Amino acid sequence: MWQRRNLLSVAAAGLGGALMHVTPSVLQQPAALPYEYIPSPNYNNRPAGAVVSCVVLHSTVVPTLEETIGVFLAPRTEVSAHFVVGREGRVVQMVPVELRAWHAGVSVLDGVGNVNDYSVGIEMVNLNDGKQPYPPAQSAAVAGILRFLRSYFTIPDSRVVSHAQIALPAGRKSDPLGFDFAAMLALAAHPAGA
Ligand SMILES: [Zn+2]
Repeated sequence: MWQRRNLLSVAAAGLGGALMHVTPSVLQQPAALPYEYIPSPNYNNRPAGAVVSCVVLHSTVVPTLEETIGVFLAPRTEVSAHFVVGREGRVVQMVPVELRAWHAGVSVLDGVGNVNDYSVGIEMVNLNDGKQPYPPAQSAAVAGILRFLRSYFTIPDSRVVSHAQIALPAGRKSDPLGFDFAAMLALAAHPAGA
């Protein structure tokens, strides 16, 4: 589940370039858009020098891919993610990875705040009730996105995280409830048939 961009987050983002521990370069050229692309208006630039180093996984709570796309297309919602993954594995990209999508809200990972600045957000269509499963095709699609991202960025397994793990205050978010991270990461490392 996404989180509305709030004033605190916006104010902090403005200082991000000075506060972040950055390594030299972001992408010099835009990354490829290998998926179906439906551009969301809800994004801004990453702070100067920000390097993508993690992936945040979410559940939409919204029950369908189409409704989720509608939410991310509406400027008033001020929410988005880089990728939305449907239950049958359809992937729709809505924000280019070199830009900053608005999915994490107030957040911290390994002591560094404003996780939107340096993460890629992936929303999986799921009710987040802890009961609805994540179909194999959906997990496989997420693994495929992770492999794609790793062709551009260094993203260790330890930095493929849940929204629940990074959201502040602790306990604010629970998504993606019930998702099998280990199985998806194993698939990303060793694709079936590879
Ligand atoms: Zn979320």
